[in-house]
Amino acid sequence: MGTEFKSRANLEIERYSQELNKVGEEIWSNPELGFEEYKAHEILTDFLEQKGFHVDRSYLGISTAFRATFENQAKTSNICVVCEYDALPEIGHACGHNLIAEAGIAAGLGIKAALEGNGAPKGRITVMGTPAEEGLGGKVKLIEKGAFDDVDVAMMAHPCPTNILEPVCPAIVQVEVTFNGKAAHAAAFPWEGINALDAAILAYNNVSVLRQQLKPTIRIHGIITNGGAKPNIIPEQSAMEYCIRATKRKEVLELMPKVIACFEAAAKATGCTVDVKEPHPSYDDMVHNKVVSRLYKTNSEKLGMTFVESPEPKGSTDMGNVSHMIPAIQPGYHIGDGTQVNHTRDFTTVANMPMAYLNTLTVAKAMAMTAIDLFVNPELLQQAKKFFNEKAQFL
Ligand SMILES: [Zn+2]
Ligand SMILES: [Zn+2]
Repeated sequence: MGTEFKSRANLEIERYSQELNKVGEEIWSNPELGFEEYKAHEILTDFLEQKGFHVDRSYLGISTAFRATFENQAKTSNICVVCEYDALPEIGHACGHNLIAEAGIAAGLGIKAALEGNGAPKGRITVMGTPAEEGLGGKVKLIEKGAFDDVDVAMMAHPCPTNILEPVCPAIVQVEVTFNGKAAHAAAFPWEGINALDAAILAYNNVSVLRQQLKPTIRIHGIITNGGAKPNIIPEQSAMEYCIRATKRKEVLELMPKVIACFEAAAKATGCTVDVKEPHPSYDDMVHNKVVSRLYKTNSEKLGMTFVESPEPKGSTDMGNVSHMIPAIQPGYHIGDGTQVNHTRDFTTVANMPMAYLNTLTVAKAMAMTAIDLFVNPELLQQAKKFFNEKAQFL
């Protein structure tokens, strides 16, 4: 259904392909960290405004968030494509978020073209600019401020080494752990000191021991961010950061007391005190809406894409939080030759290759076609909502 509108969307994406790729390249060339994506915000909002979208810059008071909308009738279903555009420290666009931004605006442009023609289905398209996916939870802040309250379905696609329809994106809690001890001269009066670095080392080893008793789908990984000031001072303070991930949110919550016990035991053994904070929002596991996912698969296959099964956990995402709120999908699509993986310098390189931009526009078309399916056939939207309401999948 909706073939005519789908081809209209695809033609529009092709018509602007060079301009769209330029946007992806510009964002890649100027990597910005979470909540500091000022240049990307400007490039993307300027583009969408020029193309006739109603644009809200710094949406809901978040400097680098935006919302761009187009509708051909008030109070119709609202399909949202999501852009990300933050980079990683030192290694740039090693997660390919420059491409996620491009895919989002390209899909938005295609959907708008479909909604504009004669006899077009009624609908509203929202392109949502969501900053700071890498750990800082831009979407969680947007959800809290009500950004997704009037959205019926949200979708985005993420670059990765292979095409995966429903990647497993685990829930995650991030903690900052601080041990406080007492400084002393490490040679003259070590018995006067309380060694906070020892507490960090014991905590690291406690977690490593715990890991053997955990399911293979669970990931706990951390670093020591402060190990003392000088070797001749017994460290009075040490600090660590840990990520705790499991396939489901509930599992992470069940796991937390065991991880906290590792930190507390280390404090007790060394005589330190310990402070555990959660500086950033936790991310929910990604629940791919099967109804929307199936439509996306059919549309992408028509465009020549094929998918591989990959049940192993991948990275976590704040799109997970969106998927716990409304029907949502986040398929992975391949860039590179399959050997480059996210968060490496090699991935940064392939995220700026012609093939990456080509694939990005293909998934943009698949997302646009999926939105058109939902506009043309409201029964499908109802099915997606019905699936969402089956709460068992969130447990
Ligand atoms: Zn990433
Ligand atoms: Zn990413």
